Formats: sequence, C-alpha cells, structure tokens
Amino acid sequence: MPRLAFGLEKRPTHRQIWEMRCFRCGAKPSYATWSICANDNRHVPICHECDVALNRAALRFMRVSKARLEALMRRYRRRTAA
Ligand SMILES: [Zn+2]
Repeated sequence: MPRLAFGLEKRPTHRQIWEMRCFRCGAKPSYATWSICANDNRHVPICHECDVALNRAALRFMRVSKARLEALMRRYRRRTAA
C-alpha cells in the first residue's frame, strides 16, 4: 500500500520550520507544525495565519461556546503575534 501520510516523520528544528512553506496555503513561510493521528502524527509545516484558522476550526469542532472561542482566539493571537 502506498504511503498516504504527508509531512515529516521527525520533528523539524525551529530553523527548519522557518525555511519551509506552509503546507496548507503554500504562500507563506511556516511558523509551526501540526500533527494528527490520521496522518501518522507526521509534522506538517503551517504558517501563522493558517495555524490561527486551524485552532479556530478545532475549537468550533469541539463546540466551544462562541464567547469562549473568541476569548481564546484573542488570547492566542496576542500570544503568538509576530
Ligand atoms: Zn498558510
């Protein structure tokens, strides 16, 4: 069976992360990596904007109330602002 998972098997260094493009949009340098079990927990580079969108989508999926979601995202944006 062909390998379906994408991304890196080993966690990249910060320098390596900054040198890669975002897997989702491909437009910006990556800022972090994300991983999920369905993708064999591989490390996938993601830019700040896409990371914020991913975090928002995850909170929505978990049915966090709108007020808490917005408060969490404000705090996350502040904490991770470049
Ligand atoms: Zn992106």
